[in-house]
Amino acid sequence: MFIKERTPPIELKWLPRLLRRLPRHHSSWPNVEKAHYMMKAGYGGEIEIDRRLRHLRWKDCLFIGDLQLSYAYCQIDTIVLTPYFALILEVKNYSGILIFDEESMHLRQITRQGQAVGYHSPVTQAWNAREELLVLFGEMGVKLPVDAAIVLPYSTTLVENMPKVFPVIYGHSLNRFISSIPQNGKPLPNEEIVRIGQLLLEKHSPFPKKNYSQTFKYAPAELKKGILCHQCGSISSRISTRTHYCSSCNLKISGGLSYTLDEWFAFASPKITNSQCREFLMLRDKNAAHHVLTHAGLTRKRENGQFYYYK
Ligand SMILES: [Zn+2]
Repeated sequence: MFIKERTPPIELKWLPRLLRRLPRHHSSWPNVEKAHYMMKAGYGGEIEIDRRLRHLRWKDCLFIGDLQLSYAYCQIDTIVLTPYFALILEVKNYSGILIFDEESMHLRQITRQGQAVGYHSPVTQAWNAREELLVLFGEMGVKLPVDAAIVLPYSTTLVENMPKVFPVIYGHSLNRFISSIPQNGKPLPNEEIVRIGQLLLEKHSPFPKKNYSQTFKYAPAELKKGILCHQCGSISSRISTRTHYCSSCNLKISGGLSYTLDEWFAFASPKITNSQCREFLMLRDKNAAHHVLTHAGLTRKRENGQFYYYK
């Protein structure tokens, strides 16, 4: 049973919107696209493993999806709590061939197109996560062995140089793998497993939202302005107070002003002035901008003689 369900990463909502907001020719556009692709694949892989965990033969296990310990810079994909041990699953949804180089503690992927790509070692990630969980268990007075494994959701991914520190398991064999882990010592009662799970959930401290302009290296002034079509990203024209229209897609867009204001706060800055709002939303004058800003439920603050609106 999951005591913390996995939720879609916030980037899955924002990155497609950033792709529309950033001009197609911008040097960072391919990086945003790649980040979105990786995020989607990663989340898809985790969902696939969650599905398999739900069908685990062993019923008295608890699962925690995506435990974030931001104070320790640690994120754990999945924790399985059993009466005999805790297990960390580091899910990696990469295609092609994975080569674990344990000497340089690095992972190399040869994609299906034959391209070599380097990644942080998932073994190191799993090792860090295990160390962190052991520290937490120490603080909680929990004596439960902690294992870790790297899980590949799909059997089409091939592996070379299997690491020796932790096993690499295919999703298909997860059930069998978990059942094969030795069950030594006295089993913990169910209430104790629930208590440990709750204590871990209390430690969940999400990472702060990414600063997109820093991460993807663009200046807010480079972003496209106006109310963009949700389908094709071109600038739509206003046809009534609340509605815009994209002539390329023949699509009506309602609520485009507040949607676009949200994108300013997500991609440009945590605050906005009347003239920035007027320019970014392509409004006709300062009164129109004032109307939008005062109806958006923002906090207004005066700083150095200038009014700023905060979300
Ligand atoms: Zn369109």
